[in-house]
Amino acid sequence: MMEVLKGHGLRYASLLHQEAYIGGKWVSAASGKLFPVTNPANSKVIASVPDMEVTDTEAAINSAYEAFQTWQTTTARERSLLLRNWYNLMEQHKEDLALIVTAEAGKPLSESRGEIGYGSSFLEWFSEEAKRIYGEVAQSPASSKELFFLRQPIGVASMITPWNFPNAMITRKAGAALAAGCTCVIKPAEDTPLSALAAVDLAEKAGFPPGVINVVTTSRANTPAVGKLMCTSPKVAGISFTGSTAIGRVLYEQCASGIKRIGLELGGNAPFIVFSSADVKSAVEGLMVAKFRNSGQACISANRILVQEEIYDKFSEALEEAVRKRLTVGDGFNKEVNIGPLININQLKRVERIVNESVAAGAGVVLGGKCHDMGDLFFQPTILCNVTEDMACFQEEIFGPVIALKKFKCEEEAVNIANASKFGLACYFYSQDVSQVWRVARRLESGMIGINEGLISTAEGAFGGVKQSGIGREGSRHGIDDYTYLKYICLGGIN
Ligand code: ADP
Repeated sequence: MMEVLKGHGLRYASLLHQEAYIGGKWVSAASGKLFPVTNPANSKVIASVPDMEVTDTEAAINSAYEAFQTWQTTTARERSLLLRNWYNLMEQHKEDLALIVTAEAGKPLSESRGEIGYGSSFLEWFSEEAKRIYGEVAQSPASSKELFFLRQPIGVASMITPWNFPNAMITRKAGAALAAGCTCVIKPAEDTPLSALAAVDLAEKAGFPPGVINVVTTSRANTPAVGKLMCTSPKVAGISFTGSTAIGRVLYEQCASGIKRIGLELGGNAPFIVFSSADVKSAVEGLMVAKFRNSGQACISANRILVQEEIYDKFSEALEEAVRKRLTVGDGFNKEVNIGPLININQLKRVERIVNESVAAGAGVVLGGKCHDMGDLFFQPTILCNVTEDMACFQEEIFGPVIALKKFKCEEEAVNIANASKFGLACYFYSQDVSQVWRVARRLESGMIGINEGLISTAEGAFGGVKQSGIGREGSRHGIDDYTYLKYICLGGIN
């Protein structure tokens, strides 16, 4: 593995770990078993990491629980400084961390660099927020009493993260938890454990005490049992998950028995609406970003593209030209490439099925539509037209480089189509009509809305969904809420 990455300019081979991290030690699975990590661009094995099971996870939870007893007594400033150290180290090792993301997730290197910048920004943000976790003093009904609300850390937080942002989804959760005074047990996605281990290597160097951060790596086969323990252990206070709605539902149910705190960032089916008053050029730019970032593999990717009829031809021509000319498919290590492979064969088959079903149901293929001959996991940048609401490409989250276009007549129709989904994560729309901007923003059933903007993710923003897209918010000052509870204190006997 090291040879491959050194060939791409990796400077610190010490960031590459093939062991998990529990109680401040780099450890193997008790069983000694490993599972392989592959590069999706060529399916070659790049590393093997411990295939941990329930007993290993128990050890991680125990060490997080023990560490919490002292970590919760640290001052906010102490925690802030450690987060700031971690942030500085991530910035220093940005290039190496980006190489690791590209190696295991297939992302074009420029996007991997972007992810590391995004990922480290959560550490910077929460190093600042740590010092701003305020309580309240309420008005007392009696002069003999004073009423206070303290904000306290909940305890051990379990975190289960996805492969599409293998660095940032960890820092977004762990940054908030650590700032609040919680300790954590992280289970990264089986496709991308190396980024998690590299990030935590830097956390160790930043000075976080043993047990405060733990990483359990496990294969897909062992994940359900490990995940169940992470939800049900009496030593775990809460769980934070980013991934599919199907798995989010399983975890929500498992958390019910112990009445655990839970934060869920789940699937989306983002509408992208172009009204006739829109600036066509910037709408095309916005869609290129909102659709093709990470080859469409983001939960806030634009999925259902609705274009008002007066502007449809102009928009679709400009879009077709942009997709034809500006996208280069290939290995993410190649500088010209801006569309990498999909993460694994299941995702590729899923995108292929969605396109095939939509075409069979009457969608037209403007561009692409098939697997790309670059390798086993590549899909052609695709534009489908004449899409109807019942087609797979509108009903399901595509998670691939596929644009599905539908023409609409009036605002009412567009808003109704946008809201006719069980998801409500992100929406995007383009309009230069001020009152339309407000009308539509008010009516869209969505946790996040990009207006005349395709890139909404930032540490300062409150990320999260409504309906079946999840509960809770990450980033912003609200990102701390999942990791704290209010303790009401009534001090009596004052005379
Ligand atoms: P995807 O289908 O995109 O891989 P998932 O929701 O399946 O999305 O995966 C997101 C994360 O959830 C990964 O870390 C994965 O290992 C984990 N996961 C999958 N199944 C379970 C489960 N039954 N219990 C706990 N975690 C799970």
